[in-house]
Amino acid sequence: MNNYMSRKKMARIITVASGKGGTGKTTISANLGVALAQFGRDVIILDADIEMANLELILGMEGRELTLHEVLSGKCDIHDVIYQGPSGVKVVPAGIKLETLKDADPERLTQALSELLTLTEILLIDAPAGLGKDALAAISAAEEIILVVNPDVSSLSDALKTKVVAQKLGCKILGAIVNRVENTQAEITAEEISAILEIPVIAVIPEDRNIKIASIYGDPLVLKFPNSPASIAIKRLAATILGERIVEPAERASILKKLVKGLLRRK
Ligand code: ADP
Ligand code: MG
Repeated sequence: MNNYMSRKKMARIITVASGKGGTGKTTISANLGVALAQFGRDVIILDADIEMANLELILGMEGRELTLHEVLSGKCDIHDVIYQGPSGVKVVPAGIKLETLKDADPERLTQALSELLTLTEILLIDAPAGLGKDALAAISAAEEIILVVNPDVSSLSDALKTKVVAQKLGCKILGAIVNRVENTQAEITAEEISAILEIPVIAVIPEDRNIKIASIYGDPLVLKFPNSPASIAIKRLAATILGERIVEPAERASILKKLVKGLLRRK
């Protein structure tokens, strides 16, 4: 799935992967997608996590009937399965297991995905966990991988296995995200994780109870609680991915102060 022959625009394909499930891939995909859209980027999130299809729940857009599956069986067009989400982020539900999709009609899947890539700047893939066929299909589609790790030994050792496979598949690993950090003694530190995985840690996202509260409302965290610690970390991550720099609240205050001072001086 790496050769998209008929690509018009060069979309970045970024897969959010991990070793085991429950590390926070879907939470991060949804909120990162919204944050990237807030930076004015065209983003499509491909929900490839079929077993735990909760991306749409997090974004408050569940119950979409047409999926990539229907596109591949010729029932509808790719444009029919691109759903508008909050802040302009778009979501394409895969519908059934990616590997099944591939088996059914690889030509059609390639065509559908390459068409998707002409319609967006960034295709974010919320990958299934582990190294099963689905996960491998998602990983092999990716040019860039972000590995979501929790600061514990089992998550780290699973992430290491995924990293090795991803590198064998020729994917560029952007880095690791350490999620659910509580800064306790028992936790493996971001530095240790970076040293063991031999990749940079591009974000440290704290444990944040507002994630659960936001999900009850069906709103993504970055919209419901934009100043929550995990929101700030995810927005910073979006900026890192785009190579941009965001203005922190404290910095904004000082910029405002300078601006106000400047304006007052003119009077
Ligand atoms: P995955 O997609 O990797 O299986 P999810 O994104 O579904 O993981 O997250 C698993 C659970 O962990 C969810 O209940 C989610 O709300 C919670 N969670 C994820 N990240 C955080 C965080 N930083 N703080 C608190 N809870 C989190
Ligand atoms: Mg998930």
